[in-house]
Amino acid sequence: MDIRAITLDLDDTLWPIAPVMARVEQRVDAWLHAHCPAVAAAWPIEAMRQLREEVTREHPQYAHDYTIQRKLTLRRAFAPFGLGEDWVEAAYAIYQDERNRVDCYADTESALARLARQLPLASLSNGNADLARIGLHRHFRFSVTAREVGVAKPDPAIFLHACERLGLSPNQVLHVGDDPALDVAGARAVGMHAAWINRDRLAWHDADAPDLDFPDLDALAGWIEAQRPAS
Ligand SMILES: [Mg+2]
Repeated sequence: MDIRAITLDLDDTLWPIAPVMARVEQRVDAWLHAHCPAVAAAWPIEAMRQLREEVTREHPQYAHDYTIQRKLTLRRAFAPFGLGEDWVEAAYAIYQDERNRVDCYADTESALARLARQLPLASLSNGNADLARIGLHRHFRFSVTAREVGVAKPDPAIFLHACERLGLSPNQVLHVGDDPALDVAGARAVGMHAAWINRDRLAWHDADAPDLDFPDLDALAGWIEAQRPAS
C-alpha cells in the first residue's frame, strides 16, 4: 500500500456528534425563548426537528447542504411571525457556534499531530463543522465539504475532488472514517484505500471489508508510523 496522503471524516471520527446536536437544539431553543418567545412556543424542539425533516424532503437538491437546510427551516419557522433574514442569520449564528463546540475523542488531537507529521491530511465531511473554529485546522492542508462540492459522500465525485486537490491518484490516498457505507464503501468505490475507525468494535457486515480496521486514531497513527521509514 503506497499511501501519500490521508483524508479524514470529521463527525463520529474526530468527535462524537450526537451530544453536539442535542446541545445545538437546546441552545437554539433557549435563544428563541429569550428573543422571540412566540416562535419558541410554536416550534418546540421536536416540532422544529420535524420541520427540518419536512424541509429536507421538499428540497432534495439540498440533501448535501446542511447549512441551507437549517436556514430554510429557520426561515419557515420565523415567516408566520413576520421575522425575516436578520432573524434567520441570528439564529443560525447560535446554531453554528454550538455546532463547533465539540468534545474530541481523547486520542484525536495527539493522533492528528502524529499523522500530520507523516503525511498531508485533508478533511472530507458531509457536515458543516468549521475546523478553524474548533481549533484543529493546523493539522490539515485543506477541507473538502459536501456543501462546497455539491454532492455528499458516498458520491464518487467528492472523493475524486479530494484526490485531485491532493494531486494524487485515488490509490495513493487513504480515507479514514467511522461510517461503513459513507466512508469505507464510498472511498473503495473510487479506488482509494479505506480505514474504518471502529471505536465500538462492531462486526463488519458488508462483503467488501475495509483494507484497515482500527479501534481509534491512535492505532491508525501507530500503523502509519510503522509503514513509513523514520526521517
Ligand atoms: Mg462520520
